[in-house]
Amino acid sequence: MNWEDFRQWGRRAADWAADYHAGLRDRPVRAQVAPGAVLSALPDAPPEGAEAMQAIFDDFEQTIMPGMTHWQHPRFFAYFPANAAPVSVLAEYFVSAIAAQCMLWQTSPAATELETRVCDWMRQAIGLPDGFTGVIQDSASSATLCAVLTMRERALNWQGNKAGLSGQPRLRVYCSAEVHTSVDRAIWIAGLGEENLVRIPTHGPTRAMDADALRAAIAADRAAGHLPAGIIACTGGTSAGASDDIAAVMDVAEAEGLYTHVDAAWAGSAMICPEFRSLWAGVERADSVVMNPHKWLGAQFDCTTHFLRNPDDLVRTLAIQPEYLKTHGADGIVNYSEWSVPLGRRFRALKLWFLIRAHGLDGLREMIRNHVTWAQGLAARLEATEGFEVVTQPMLSLFTFRHLATADLDAHNQDLLNRINDDGRIYLTQTRIDGALVIRFQAGAFTATAEDVAMAYDVITELAAAGT
Ligand SMILES: *Cc1c(COP(=O)(O)O)cnc(C)c1O
Repeated sequence: MNWEDFRQWGRRAADWAADYHAGLRDRPVRAQVAPGAVLSALPDAPPEGAEAMQAIFDDFEQTIMPGMTHWQHPRFFAYFPANAAPVSVLAEYFVSAIAAQCMLWQTSPAATELETRVCDWMRQAIGLPDGFTGVIQDSASSATLCAVLTMRERALNWQGNKAGLSGQPRLRVYCSAEVHTSVDRAIWIAGLGEENLVRIPTHGPTRAMDADALRAAIAADRAAGHLPAGIIACTGGTSAGASDDIAAVMDVAEAEGLYTHVDAAWAGSAMICPEFRSLWAGVERADSVVMNPHKWLGAQFDCTTHFLRNPDDLVRTLAIQPEYLKTHGADGIVNYSEWSVPLGRRFRALKLWFLIRAHGLDGLREMIRNHVTWAQGLAARLEATEGFEVVTQPMLSLFTFRHLATADLDAHNQDLLNRINDDGRIYLTQTRIDGALVIRFQAGAFTATAEDVAMAYDVITELAAAGT
């Protein structure tokens, strides 16, 4: 394909995308294909000769699309949302056409300076104080890895990268059992070892880390000759929205001199609404905070904003600066590749800029407030329906429930969930709460309406009745 052909196909792609979204409600949310079906429909060997774009497009529609789960479906209530507002899709289209590597200021000054500006817009939008500096990472997992590496280097007085970890005391990091698995991965990759990720018990309906237990664990580690390095708190855990008491965690961290990272990958988007900020009260004292505009807010994946109270520690941990990457001279120049693990960087700021401008913070707030209200409404309706139990109350737009049965509750709810997802009108996933299998519900799709959430009630109660 050359750029002249691209003109025509680009227009067709725009039409296709608009049609696809217009027809989403008629598609089953979760792909209904059997394992291996797509693979076996694809030729074993690559073509030797060029194929016509029309043939490629036909196979895309006939072979690939039926095997896709529709994350932009208005009745996608599974996992967390991965919203892609149309305007952010458009921005990505421009970004992929320009295809710049935005690793250094000079490799695209506008990309760097726009990133600085939109990160500061996001900082203001979520109510972090002046003084926090942002960077866009590819994922919350990467941001958390950066934070753990920073904890490690700080605790080792910047000797870890140089001398390695052998011969060092055991570095210890603290969190609850509610944090995302990306924390475990970060600990593995940073060379700390899973055994040194200390799980602090939680308490209360928010499933928050017990600050006294945290203090005691740190004291015990110091007594044993270990080296406490940092604390990872969460606002809006993945399973059921667990949220630590950040102020209480910060009291401990400040007394112990520990680096703190707050993972609000999902719930952070809700912080554009001031009424939800009490959920992470104390966050302004944290060293590092991550939230994903690519989840609830509507910036096409990938777009993670990572805020640092002082970026020097992170840059000191990650900057390499070989001769060929140096941009000599100019003061005030930021090279964001020194703030993240990969060198190459996509131009991710553009979609966030487009998104915030096209919707305005008020438009985005309205979406989030609706989702929270609708999720609360659905939880209340299920709770009032005989045979249903709300297991964890709505945390923003996320709650868990189960259908009661006389026999094996876990098997009964797994079966109900399977039948719901095979039905296709809605899509839900499961988690475990205190060992029991429960069904998760989150409202978060960009185009969801109150009617879509009402349909969730109908589907859940209809299929629960059919199975008993
Ligand atoms: C989704 C999620 C993550 C992982 O986000 P990625 O950007 O996919 O790495 C981490 N933590 C929490 C709380 C999440 O909800």
